Amino acid sequence: MNNVPPASVHSTFATALLSWYPRHRRDLPWRHTRNPYAIWLSEVILQQTRVKQGLPYYLDFISSYPTVHDLAAAPEDEVLRHWQGLGYYSRARNMHHTAQQVVREYGGQFPTTYAELLKLRGVGQYTAAAIASFAFDEKVAVLDGNVFRVLSRVFGLTEDIAAPASRKVFQQLADTLIPADAPAEFNQAIMEFGAIQCTPVKPDCLFCPLQAQCYAFQHGMVAELPIKSKAKAARTRYFHYLVLRHADTVYMRKRTGKDIWQGLYDFALTETDSDELAAVEVLRQVEALGGTVASDRAEEPSATYRHVLSHQKLEARFYPVRLEAALPVEALQKLGLAAFNAAEIEALPKPILITNYISKK
Ligand code: SF4
Repeated sequence: MNNVPPASVHSTFATALLSWYPRHRRDLPWRHTRNPYAIWLSEVILQQTRVKQGLPYYLDFISSYPTVHDLAAAPEDEVLRHWQGLGYYSRARNMHHTAQQVVREYGGQFPTTYAELLKLRGVGQYTAAAIASFAFDEKVAVLDGNVFRVLSRVFGLTEDIAAPASRKVFQQLADTLIPADAPAEFNQAIMEFGAIQCTPVKPDCLFCPLQAQCYAFQHGMVAELPIKSKAKAARTRYFHYLVLRHADTVYMRKRTGKDIWQGLYDFALTETDSDELAAVEVLRQVEALGGTVASDRAEEPSATYRHVLSHQKLEARFYPVRLEAALPVEALQKLGLAAFNAAEIEALPKPILITNYISKK
């Protein structure tokens, strides 16, 4: 079903939102700027992140790296360290690369059009539309989860919002709704409306200015819309970390593969199909690295640490091992391990799972 609304609904929709917005919007720092760098930074940080969680990160980034030149020149480890705790670390790496691209290819000036912005690494349709409209007043409608929900409910769109093909339908509608004289304000308004009025659960329909024209409200379908097919069930992975210590150092490694947490530091890892690694297997692995355990008995492994990612559930245990001597160079090279003291470990970018373990030791 695709309920095409009468033209009058289109014009009253924008008018109602633009009147609602100044009275209800939250006062957020990135709403006081037209600087494309600051807007881009806020949009990258806020993807898949709640405003409350993202705000301190935004303030930290904008004060640590006031310009795109500052961000581009920063070491990747340092950028990841600032990002620590936000998750989805590929966003931080892409952000860093994009900053370098803007400096290298555009002389430090962000492109000023939607089409040009799309050429930047990690900048998709949503972010390009946000920057083009907020910073440069281009008439291009943003589509994020909030916008999908509002449009689906108000206009009775029943296309599955998780299906890529649906995007075209929503984009076409949004493009007809956005007014030429207030694209930035309209985009901000519809996203904010979805975030605080037309919320996923318990939207405030009673005091909603769109109630009379809202298809979902009028047809008792608020709880059903938008239609979103379920994502695949998350798979469980079992991580066993050897926390190899010698003198006052601990061996850690930078994750380089195509897996999660690329660029972050963790310990020597074995992944299995079960949540336990026998003590004898721990010893075998240490010996395979050319190491000698300093005591006769293996130390107790940690309790299980659980961590949920978007498509994976991690169950991790840590097996502390004190070594009699430093590990041979070949073993270090093979596994990419290096010895770090406590202060160095503190400064390394680490997954939150690893930070939790270290802080509880
Ligand atoms: S009436 Fe309810 S469902 Fe419709 S737009 Fe308003 S808050 Fe959303």
